[in-house]
Amino acid sequence: MDRLKQEKIIEEVKQNNEIVAVISEYVNLKEKGRSFIGLCPFHGEKTPSFTVSREKQLFHCFGCGAGGDVINFIMRIENLNFPQTLRLLAERVNITLPNEQLSPTLLKKKEEREQLYKLNALATSFYQKILFQTETGKQALAYLEARGISRQAAEKFRLGYSPPHWTRLVEVLRKKGLSLNEAEKAGLVRGGTEGFYDRFRDRLMFPISNSRGQIIGFGGRILGEEQPKYLNSPETVIFQKGRCLYGLFQAREGIRKARKAIIVEGYLDVIQAHQHGVEQVVASLGTALTSDQVRTLKRYTKEVIIAYDADAAGQSATIRGLDLLDEAGVEVRVAMLPEGEDPDSLVRKEGTEKFLHLVEQSVDLFTFKLKYILGKEDLSTPIGKARAVDLVFALLSRVKNKIAREAYIRQTAAAVGISEESFYDQWRIYEYNLRKNKERLDIKRSSRHTNDNTHAQQLISTPEKKKVLLLERELLRGCLQEKENFGRIKKTLMGIECSSQLSASLLQQLIEWDVSGEWPPPASVFSPEIRTLYIELLTENEMNPLPVDVEGCCRRLRQYHLTREIQRLQKEVAASSEEKEGNTSSMQNLHEKLALLNELHKKLREEFPTFSGSL
Ligand SMILES: [Zn+2]
Repeated sequence: MDRLKQEKIIEEVKQNNEIVAVISEYVNLKEKGRSFIGLCPFHGEKTPSFTVSREKQLFHCFGCGAGGDVINFIMRIENLNFPQTLRLLAERVNITLPNEQLSPTLLKKKEEREQLYKLNALATSFYQKILFQTETGKQALAYLEARGISRQAAEKFRLGYSPPHWTRLVEVLRKKGLSLNEAEKAGLVRGGTEGFYDRFRDRLMFPISNSRGQIIGFGGRILGEEQPKYLNSPETVIFQKGRCLYGLFQAREGIRKARKAIIVEGYLDVIQAHQHGVEQVVASLGTALTSDQVRTLKRYTKEVIIAYDADAAGQSATIRGLDLLDEAGVEVRVAMLPEGEDPDSLVRKEGTEKFLHLVEQSVDLFTFKLKYILGKEDLSTPIGKARAVDLVFALLSRVKNKIAREAYIRQTAAAVGISEESFYDQWRIYEYNLRKNKERLDIKRSSRHTNDNTHAQQLISTPEKKKVLLLERELLRGCLQEKENFGRIKKTLMGIECSSQLSASLLQQLIEWDVSGEWPPPASVFSPEIRTLYIELLTENEMNPLPVDVEGCCRRLRQYHLTREIQRLQKEVAASSEEKEGNTSSMQNLHEKLALLNELHKKLREEFPTFSGSL
């Protein structure tokens, strides 16, 4: 497709997807003056710095700098590439994208997926009809009633019933002239020597949808005594069990409102909770969370509470999943359900309040693991105590926050029944050995990469490094505001090594573009890696048109680099003075360094007579 036509389509998609409406599906926005504000979904924050402008059709976070138009927002929050995003937004407003955009292979894949969605949608309606409108469905309805599921909830989750006969769905599909081979690919029917037959029979059907509400697969619970109790759709091109969370489509709003998600194990746990107004609940389809599920959840919330029954929660597969969440920066808590109870039975027997109370009382991951470890050891014997303490040390060593660790140490000492002093003594020995081991590893590692520029890496994530990054970013933003600024900024930035690769590449590409005119350059001229940063900077300028203090930023950067250089030289001088005296070449070297050092000091004093030493 030619460029002009493509741009027209992009424009059309953008115009029909009003940014405030789209973002409201993900972020709770409040109107404030001429814009809308909310909590940024891209970084954790307690006071809103995320701003959306209806007028400009842009979003910008004053906290983390994320920004752009509706397409940039969806790309980022749904973790999609540009064509996928365009398709999603087009589908949202029923715009048909011309297929010529897709390669023949992609087109074929797309058609195949659409066919599977269509077949699943049809099967869903078929099962629903059997459940609610036929004599055959009565038994399944009675089962639902016995499980305390209301008709309304059953409809919300589009529950159905697959009749016990062998070929009911096959007949329906055949009558509609649909391909049974395709239906086999969708996992709805099976092919045998005597022809096709229904995969799901005599089962209560739980349609599983993606985050857009399209049915991608099914779970079926047998009503009789047969095995297996639960039968799922096989993996298909649209259904990968490890990727989806049951109920997410229905829970999206609830999760955003509550700002947390509760993960349960089963379909009925989800439905029961929703029916009782607890709408931030999803099921993991198995106890072990996968990294794909973790990534999906992270788009919606930074806090997750696990509410599995006690046995399932303690399984090592479950705990691995919880560690994944923790590593992904999600705050994980575990609700301690009474032995033998799941959310479904709990809500039915004791009501929503009891369930919510347990959620409220949920413990953090460390406390949960501690309880679990201690529960397995016999703490009445010295050996048991020692073993428990050893296991807990491994947990403690992963707690990075010192204050939290101290609290955990006290907690553990009390739980194991030993004095805090002896616990600390043991802990110090453990920590010492750990550090030694780590140092040994580090030495090995650094001797392998002697050429690495560790100088730059040492700085990473110190507050100072953050300030420098911010200064560089401000300068780049400043040169997009005024072309006149560019010369001054170029001089400052080119004399130093940018602390981030992205800023360095953006600067390089700006320099290359400089000659040809239009300013700021169109985003399309930048390579995809730096385009996000570029769009963020442009957006920030749109939303915050106050001019960047270019002079100030340049000065502070220059001060920073001068003092860094002085510090580095001072260290070198100190090191070479310790070397054997009388070695003339090293003496010579030392003198040169001292001279350079003096010169730098002089420069610093001259350029910045009032500089106090910090940025
Ligand atoms: Zn942010």
